[in-house]
Amino acid sequence: MYNKFQDFLRQELAQIEADGLYKNERIIESPQGAEIIVKGKKCLNFCANNYLGLADNPELIEAAKKGMDARGFGMSSVRFICGCQDLHKQLEEKISEFFGTEDTILYAACFDANGGVFEPLLGPEDAIISDALNHASIIDGVRLCKAQRFRYANADMADLEAQLQAAKDCRFRLIVTDGVFSMDGNVCPLDKIYELAQKYDAMVMVDESHSAGVVGVTGRGVTERFNLRGEIEILTGTLGKAFGGAMGGFTTGKKEIIDMLRQRSRPYLFSNSMAPGLVAAGIRMFEMMSETNELQDKLHANTEYFIKEMVAKGFDCKPSESAICAVMLYDAPLSQKFAARMQDEGIFVTGFYYPVVPKGQARIRVQISAAHEKEHLDKCINAFVKIGQELGVIK
Ligand SMILES: *Cc1c(COP(=O)(O)O)cnc(C)c1O
Repeated sequence: MYNKFQDFLRQELAQIEADGLYKNERIIESPQGAEIIVKGKKCLNFCANNYLGLADNPELIEAAKKGMDARGFGMSSVRFICGCQDLHKQLEEKISEFFGTEDTILYAACFDANGGVFEPLLGPEDAIISDALNHASIIDGVRLCKAQRFRYANADMADLEAQLQAAKDCRFRLIVTDGVFSMDGNVCPLDKIYELAQKYDAMVMVDESHSAGVVGVTGRGVTERFNLRGEIEILTGTLGKAFGGAMGGFTTGKKEIIDMLRQRSRPYLFSNSMAPGLVAAGIRMFEMMSETNELQDKLHANTEYFIKEMVAKGFDCKPSESAICAVMLYDAPLSQKFAARMQDEGIFVTGFYYPVVPKGQARIRVQISAAHEKEHLDKCINAFVKIGQELGVIK
């Protein structure tokens, strides 16, 4: 039997490769950080979600070690059987404090948080109204739920309103959006979404994975940015990006919603508890966030500087309120050539093209971090200018 299947897979894989979509992994031989080692060569990293530069933070590493010493290596259980330590409850409290929400439930990843949030809450009488560019895990979560599905064009408030009208006879309506959309770096217009939710009697869910730690003066995410702390029913997020980059996800929001998820959310009920070391480091991370705003300030200053300089040099950058800067090249082969040449110059960036972004919208996506020093940013900008001139992108 396997021979036939093997042939089938080989053909499919060859097709993926022929389409130029085969994903090769570049092997990093160092911790994640502003500077990484790839193939024995030092390079500057501008394509990690390590927005606050915490992925190699000594205090977090220490907290993780202490947590492991105090509470062991693993839980070998789901939360409700015998997988809940004092640490898990403390981390959930820290997350609620951070976002100004009522309660929080932890998952192994935000993929699980999104996968397990819809099905326990909504049924066939209800409506989920989802932004077209929402993350894959939201799309999968919605698929697992029997609620009726409505989709609106990315951040398009006229379309959202039309979808809300189409869903007006449903029992409950939930609008779902990413906080920051990872390909353009645009922030969801949460003020307008909230207004429409009020007008059409809908609830709102925001996935803060790319916005938490980044957006808002103190990095509390899009609810801080739009002055809506405590007003949004459901927030989901990850500990795998700005918040240290290890792993762990959460849903935070209204008390009864979280309570119901603890009863019925399948990735919570049927998947292992977070490891004590990671939980302890997460607690320390949120303590650090409440002690100082240094990292958020540095990230914001870095992002502003980078985009201002790139635009001054003649690059076409999408407007961004996040730490993501999309440098538009429009041409797919050019984006790949550009990224490869950047790597020759010791700058690690990724070129994206269709189907990851719309046809004719190829780009280099640059991700800025608080770990970047000004000299890192300048080196990256200089490499962009050199290669931009070489490839005729700028004069
Ligand atoms: C990264 C990401 C996730 C998945 O987070 P994990 O914790 O890595 O599973 C979910 N949603 C969005 C919007 C993301 O960007």
